[in-house]
This record gives sequence, structure tokens and C-alpha cells, in this order.
Amino acid sequence: MSDVRLVLRSRRVLTPEGERPASVTVGADGAIAAVLPYEAEPPPGATVEELGEDALLPGLVDTHVHVNDPGRTAWEGFHTATRAAAAGGITTLVDMPLNSLPPTTTAANLAAKRAVAGPKAHVDVGFWGGAIPGNVPELRALHEAGVFGFKCFLSPSGVEEFPELDRAQLAAAMAEIASFDGLLIVHAEDPGQLASAPRKGGPAYADFLASRPREAENDAIALLVELAREHGTRVHVLHLSSSGALPLLAQARADGVRLTAETCPHFLTLTAEEVPDGATEFKCCPPIRERTNQDALWQGLADGTLDCVVSDHSPCTTDLKTPDFGTAWGGISSLQLGLPAIWTEARRRGYGLADVVRWMSGAPARLAGLAHKGAIAPGRDADFAVLAPEETFTVDPAHLHHRNQVTAYAGKTLHGVVRSAWLRGERVADHGTPTRKTGQLIERTA
Ligand SMILES: [Zn+2]
Repeated sequence: MSDVRLVLRSRRVLTPEGERPASVTVGADGAIAAVLPYEAEPPPGATVEELGEDALLPGLVDTHVHVNDPGRTAWEGFHTATRAAAAGGITTLVDMPLNSLPPTTTAANLAAKRAVAGPKAHVDVGFWGGAIPGNVPELRALHEAGVFGFKCFLSPSGVEEFPELDRAQLAAAMAEIASFDGLLIVHAEDPGQLASAPRKGGPAYADFLASRPREAENDAIALLVELAREHGTRVHVLHLSSSGALPLLAQARADGVRLTAETCPHFLTLTAEEVPDGATEFKCCPPIRERTNQDALWQGLADGTLDCVVSDHSPCTTDLKTPDFGTAWGGISSLQLGLPAIWTEARRRGYGLADVVRWMSGAPARLAGLAHKGAIAPGRDADFAVLAPEETFTVDPAHLHHRNQVTAYAGKTLHGVVRSAWLRGERVADHGTPTRKTGQLIERTA
């Protein structure tokens, strides 16, 4: 115990065994030394952080962030994104392989990304690789260089340097990834369904919604299930919006297919009914759907069909958010707001902080194989988010740290104020302001 340098005491510590009063001790190595009774005497010389009724959560792990750096740094960058993450209680993020230039589709490109990210990281940063037509020979080298898995699209991604895979290319990528027991993560919308959907464009949200039907997701996921069965590949469905795919996911998992799925704060807290016409800060693909769909997604989380809630933070410059849903860039900026957005809706629906922690920290850490993240337990990294659960605030985009202060949550009143964030026992954000920059680049471990 002699090397304990920090003690965080709270009446509400979210441990894997549940919520309880505790004193969490942190060693000189930045790991959690012990979870002791609240009343435990702090070791001499240790700094004591008394949190009272503020809840101590494991730091959030956001495995779906588009940082776009280098190359499209006017959209976002590692400096701004990791500061926003810290302010929002996220202590680990994993960057998506597209929208940056170069995309993360070769080991050399990964090295270029790491060189840019390292000096800017306020929180820990890892990388997904990309699977695009023609790069099957690169996948093993990327895996060995430490990416957490490979993202692919089945329909156009929106940027020309990251094309989608057709069925044969998808099968080839899955076979290769299975050969080293890697993970494939998929933007699942079927191009045939998208091509046959009505596409009017313009400012009406209903027209945009009709252009990205549930069937596009459902059919794409059916194909993934079929090929995952055939090749034995681990597959993760990104940003599920269509509740129509939940029975298919549940059945595949019951059959032993190695399949996981995530959904996002915007699908769980915003509804198609409330999107004003022309408000393209709400545009994302797949789209925000109706209230009844949202209810089913919550049920999917509750019964375990959906594993994780991650941001899919995907910003752009404000000029690309034109009022035409057909041409505006798709992507919702929410990195700093995911925790209060989800907590606000979760508490309204009768869920507890332990559920939120499971969806936003434990499960994403497990998805990425981050055995040292995602829980308040001895030996884990001392990564924390301190949350005042009953305090409310109104979202003012001027207080957000991501580069372009556009968000679909502007003006919303949310429950849950993030008081501070801690990374390996160092305070990295304090009352919404990033403090120390101690983030590290992290890699997949065997
Ligand atoms: Zn995304």
C-alpha cells in the first residue's frame, strides 16, 4: 500500500459488482490498487479526492470516433477531439479509419496517423484499420501493427479514398481476417436497397428518412450473418438504427455466430418526429428513426442484443451542413455529450448508472480487447469519470471543445454534469475544461 498516491472517495462508486460507497486507491503506476470501504483510512502522503455524492464511474471507452486527422483537420483533429472526449468523461477513444488522409488502410498509413496523434492526445487513442477493395494483403500487417480490427462499408462511404466492398470482396476480407482471428466492424446498409429507395433530396426530414429505409440495414446484416457463419469471422455491427434487425441479431447470436452490435446516443435520445426540416445537424447514416423504433432499440440494450453505446462522433465544417438533406454531409457531433445524453434518457426509462457504465465503458472495452480499461477494479488503469447525476445543464455549443461547434443537442437540457475525468490517476479534465495532456497511443494486445 505504501506507493498509493491518490485516493478517490465517493458514496457512489460504480464497481463491476454494483454501486456502493468506496475508497478507490491509485498506485504510482497509474493503476487501481484497491477498492476499499468508504471509511478506510487513507495511506499517509496520499492525496484524497473527496467526491461525496458525485458518482465515480470508470472512464468511458468510445470505440467509434471520426477524428479525420491528418488530412481533413478543418473537420476535426486529435487535439480538439481528445479535449472534447476528456471534458465528456471519455478516457479512451478509438479512431475510425476513414475521412483522414491517408485513410488507415496500410501499416504505413497507420504509422503516419500515429505520428500525428501522439503529441496531441489528451486521452488514450487507438486505431481501427480499414478494409477496402484491393487491400486484403495489407490486413495482417495492420493487425500486427496494433489496430483493433477493420472497418468496411457495403455502400458508398461518402469519401472516394474509402470505397465499399462488394459481396465477393467482403467474403475475401472476412476469410483473411478470420485467419488471424481479427475483428471486422461494418457499416451495414445494403446498396441495392438504398438504390431502390426514393431519393428526393431537399429540406424535409421525412424524405431523407425514406431514402435510408430499415430494409437497407436489415438486408446488410442478413448478409453479414450468412458470411460470418461461413467463415467464422468475428463481426461487429456499427451504429445500428433499424430495430427490424434485432431479431436477426438475437437469433444469430443464439446460434453461436460471433456477432456483436452497437447503437448510438442519437438513435436512443432523438427521434425523427422532432427533427425540424432543414436541420441537417441531425443528418447521419443510417438515420435517426421514429419513436417506436427507439423504444425497440432500448429493449435491445436491456436484453443484451445490443452490446455498446458509442458516439459515432463524425463532424464536418459548418458549410457542409447545408439545409438540404440530400447533399449535406452526414454525421452527428456528440463526443462531449454522449454520457449526459444517454443518462438523461436512461434514467427517464428506469435504468441505472450501472447500465450506462456497462454500455459505454465495459462493453466497448471488451469489444476492443482492452482488458486494462472499462471497470473500477484492482489492476485496471485508474481511468475515471466523475458525474453529478442529478445536476442539469443546457447544451451551449460554445462550451463544446470539438472543432466545429455544431451539434444536434444544442439547447437541450440534460441530466448529468461531468465534474472531472482522470487518466491513469491524472486529472485530464476539470469542470468541463481539459487540463493535463497525458494521453497515450494504445494498441491491440494479444
Ligand atoms: Zn461512423
